[in-house]
Amino acid sequence: MSNQSGVFGIFGENVFSESVMKERLPKDTFKEVKNAIDNGKRLSDEAANVVANEMKQWAIEKGATHFTHWFQPMTGITAEKHDSFIAPSGEGNIILKFSGKELTQGEPDASSFPSGGLRATFEARGYTAWDPTSFAFIKEGVLCIPTAFCSYGGEALDKKTPLLRSMEAINKQALRVVKLFGNEDVKSVKTTVGPEQEYFLIDEEGYKARRDLIYTGRTLFGAPPPKGQQMEDHYFGVIKPRVQAFMKDLNSELWKLGILATTEHNEVAPSQHELAPIFTTTNIATDHNQLTMEIMKKVAQKHGLVCLLHEKPFAGVNGSGKHNNWSISTDTGINLLEPGETPYENAQFLIFLTAVIRAVDDYQDLLRISVASAGNDHRLGANEAPPAVISIFLGSELTEILDAIENDKPYGAKEKELLKVGVHVLPKFPKDTTDRNRTSPFAFTGNKFEFRMLGSASSVALPNTVLNTAVAEILKQYADKLEGAEDFTTAIHDLIKSEITAHKRIIFNGNGYDDSWIREAEKRGLSNLKTTPDAVAHYLDDKNVALFTSHKVYSEAELQSRHEVFLDKYCKLLHIEAETMIEMATKDILPAVSAYSSDLSENIITKKQAGADVIFEQAQLGRISSDMKSAYEALESLKDAVSKAEDISDYVSKADFYKDPVKKDMDELRKYCDALEAQTASDYWPFPSYGELLFAVR
Ligand code: ADP
Ligand code: MG
Repeated sequence: MSNQSGVFGIFGENVFSESVMKERLPKDTFKEVKNAIDNGKRLSDEAANVVANEMKQWAIEKGATHFTHWFQPMTGITAEKHDSFIAPSGEGNIILKFSGKELTQGEPDASSFPSGGLRATFEARGYTAWDPTSFAFIKEGVLCIPTAFCSYGGEALDKKTPLLRSMEAINKQALRVVKLFGNEDVKSVKTTVGPEQEYFLIDEEGYKARRDLIYTGRTLFGAPPPKGQQMEDHYFGVIKPRVQAFMKDLNSELWKLGILATTEHNEVAPSQHELAPIFTTTNIATDHNQLTMEIMKKVAQKHGLVCLLHEKPFAGVNGSGKHNNWSISTDTGINLLEPGETPYENAQFLIFLTAVIRAVDDYQDLLRISVASAGNDHRLGANEAPPAVISIFLGSELTEILDAIENDKPYGAKEKELLKVGVHVLPKFPKDTTDRNRTSPFAFTGNKFEFRMLGSASSVALPNTVLNTAVAEILKQYADKLEGAEDFTTAIHDLIKSEITAHKRIIFNGNGYDDSWIREAEKRGLSNLKTTPDAVAHYLDDKNVALFTSHKVYSEAELQSRHEVFLDKYCKLLHIEAETMIEMATKDILPAVSAYSSDLSENIITKKQAGADVIFEQAQLGRISSDMKSAYEALESLKDAVSKAEDISDYVSKADFYKDPVKKDMDELRKYCDALEAQTASDYWPFPSYGELLFAVR
């Protein structure tokens, strides 16, 4: 046991990390594992047995009794099936058993995970395979082995496998490019990710009193409270003691798992907070973000709180996103998106920068799809978060530099010479000036890009799979061109110049929330895919299928299946939301309002008999009766729309039907029920109001 306190004492204590393996494994075995981690080499059966045995010993010493292959099916959350280490050894005795085969391969009965029709046709089972690049860890007495999940035929059924393939694709192409710049010592290139996670914390009592929160994670009804976020007094404000205690506990749980959560602060909305970890390799960052979300929920429970990860828990209050900070770096420690010191480093930086700009322009639709979900549709394009239009913020300095290159004109006030890529050193630009625009969906922030369209609830796997693959494709085209160039310096200059001319339409440094930008974006020909069905309609466009299949990230069959899973999930979510609204309106809201209005009527009669004035009662009764009638009509119309939607068998048409008639009826029902809430006496209202939910935690 370490006698150090705080993060040093516990950091990574529940992780079977590289240093633990180095300490505990025989030299040869460790070497093999390292080769598997660094170069993707397969582990021999002997080595796997040795690792498994040591891993088991270590886990048992830490109190673990079970193990599981931990994986990330297309549901977007993680899955685990616990198996005990205990095996019978005859005559009622037991031994503790865990073999190399159990470590490296599993066969969960996975027929209930979504497969988009991939598996059902020939084989019901799914297979899990150890991903040695992400370390095993112990969570609540269970040894968790991060794995990829695929079908009998080898098709990916998870979010992890395509992500790993995309990392391989960008590694391959980026290596070609860095070699052109003379970096012969670089052996691998990896993308890195640091996801900033937003969430709400509310009191458990309020949560339990609302069916909508329980079933859907968001409020489906709720009149605006007198105080919302208009005072902006919560942002970076003093953290309340209960929340502070939660954050402290959360940090230590995350640290034990080797997740370095560093910053925490209050967000704009009341009860909204944010957590940021230190960035790491993309696949590990993805695992860590899944774990972070899971542990946030569990720790909240211990504190009598509920952590809401939904993208839009409260209408009229800021929703929650996830900022995906992304960069590319070499095994020699160079961040390829960091402007360098020498002309060559600068040129290399500009090539990678240009590649990202081009990738985002060419694959706007895929990036939009990668963040599409029913929950996130409430944010994107809905007057907050970034709009559904994708654009890149570069900051004025970098934009001016690119402009100078594009137009062969001098950069800066003093410079007489033209800026020639590969010959001149780029002028220094201060980092902080690059990060002022919080409205951009895709912002360059000094040495990384921040993709800000992600919803708080979703896995970061898909957005990064898309980013990695799209950038890999552009780097491939660049390498093809530059490898054959006669004069390398002129070739890179010309390449950057022509790329900027062709793709500068995607660069926008202004206010992304402004309506005029949406009109301008349309003029520039940028896509504006407002809803999940609108976006997903482009998933199987020829250019997108070509991208993924040519880099072997998805096969055509895998793409087909994911298309189906996407829309199927959308329909199911909306179905649950609609049914929940129907239930709440029928069983909670309308009966409550009915009771209130009947009391009002009785009061009117009694008071009239006593000769008292009944102006208030009569006015309220009038308003309530009219809204009640409208609410009832909306309810009946919603019921009808849902049953029509459920009768549609084609999933594309079904999603479209949910998007339009069903969603409209839901909005209509909510409108009248919220109006009723505003008119009904508090004692009658069947569940806690927005004000009670948002300001309860202290
Ligand atoms: P800010 O708070 O201004 O957005 P930070 O530098 O604090 O910027 O970074 C925010 C997030 O970006 C953190 O999670 C951090 O770890 C991550 N990050 C920083 N550098 C990189 C990088 N090279 N690659 C990926 N993520 C990064
Ligand atoms: Mg940030």
